[in-house]
Amino acid sequence: MVKVLSINAGSSSLKFKLYSMPAEEVLVSGLVDRIGHQDGAFSYKVGDEKHESVQPIEDHTKGVQLVIDALLDSGVIKDKSEIVGVGHRVSHGGRKYEKSVEIDENVENEIDKLATVSPLHNPVNLAGIKAFEQLLPEARDVAVFDTSFHSTMPPEAYMYALPYEYYEKYGIRRYGFHGQSHQYVYSEVQRKFGDAQAAKIISCHLGNGASICAIKDGKSVNTSMGFTPLAGLVMGTRCGDIDPNIIPFIEENEHLSPDEMRTVMNKKSGLQGLSGVSNDVRDVLEAESAGNDRAKLALKVYVHQIQHYVGAYAADLNGLETLVFTAGVGEHSAPIRSRVCKQLGYLGVTIDEQKNKNNEFEIQGRDSKVKVLVIPTDEELVIARETSRIISK
Ligand code: ADP
Repeated sequence: MVKVLSINAGSSSLKFKLYSMPAEEVLVSGLVDRIGHQDGAFSYKVGDEKHESVQPIEDHTKGVQLVIDALLDSGVIKDKSEIVGVGHRVSHGGRKYEKSVEIDENVENEIDKLATVSPLHNPVNLAGIKAFEQLLPEARDVAVFDTSFHSTMPPEAYMYALPYEYYEKYGIRRYGFHGQSHQYVYSEVQRKFGDAQAAKIISCHLGNGASICAIKDGKSVNTSMGFTPLAGLVMGTRCGDIDPNIIPFIEENEHLSPDEMRTVMNKKSGLQGLSGVSNDVRDVLEAESAGNDRAKLALKVYVHQIQHYVGAYAADLNGLETLVFTAGVGEHSAPIRSRVCKQLGYLGVTIDEQKNKNNEFEIQGRDSKVKVLVIPTDEELVIARETSRIISK
């Protein structure tokens, strides 16, 4: 049995889970939130025991110190050296990292360089890595990239029809994200139903960020996010696919800089931008019930875009055996799942509305030719699995 930490560092937060591997038992889970603020929040759970505190948390290093102190204080570890591996979620692995990798100086430099294509995520992922290196120097650090699971996509799925020189010069291609989540979905379908039912899966990760993945025999063959996590579906505040010519048009007419335009597309679009109500599906559904026409429109576009990709990926897979909903919306929103599935009759998809309402694991109707599943995602577990695999080599 070894103890492995799974880390997901954001710009102002750090989610962690301590696992006993290979049992995959969660010993402690928690969140350091509002990093960089006087009223930083730290919460963690050991078994059923919950702890919460508010205090200044100036940076990621301070956050990591809190995590280590909590693990020691709670008695889950007696010494820091018991943590043999730390797995870090890293957003962008570029062309360089098709698999998870043990972190050394070289890898850190590469993650840093990839900040040019992932300015919002890679630098904060690196801040988390550096903080652990400083405070847990004996543990081996592993980078688990969002992009790696999609490295099996064929060129026809990942190349953009731009001048080839940009692919060579800047690595401009589709990479895809949420790899840990889609990989987990595959592993669960495979574990419960075996290889045959897992041969052709469409995994819909619908959270604040959202992406769809076509998985054939355990390998990603296409996914809706692209060079960055902005492409594909309508998301909470991200626009997803748009005609690229819209970008210079708005920049010119609204006198926006590329940076300001990036903010519009990442933070002011999606459900929020269309509805004017909220980025949260629950709020938009509520506004729709109250007769808000823009909320109604936003949800129509949101659902339509999911249906569009499911159709496209059923074609990529040449069929469909299992359709999976996961992440915040996918796991909890029966109305969204129901609306998406209403237009999938041509694929043989039907759902049992009562099972759907109850958020059951299997929600397909009796006559459905396709299994329709609700699977709570577990990206942290994939990070822990990858980490323990690599450090046991
Ligand atoms: P993230 O992409 O930030 O990891 P999550 O996967 O946690 O996000 O999903 C967060 C989103 O899930 C929220 O913004 C909200 O829209 C949605 N959500 C959570 N619970 C529900 C629910 N019961 N009904 C509809 N949407 C929900």
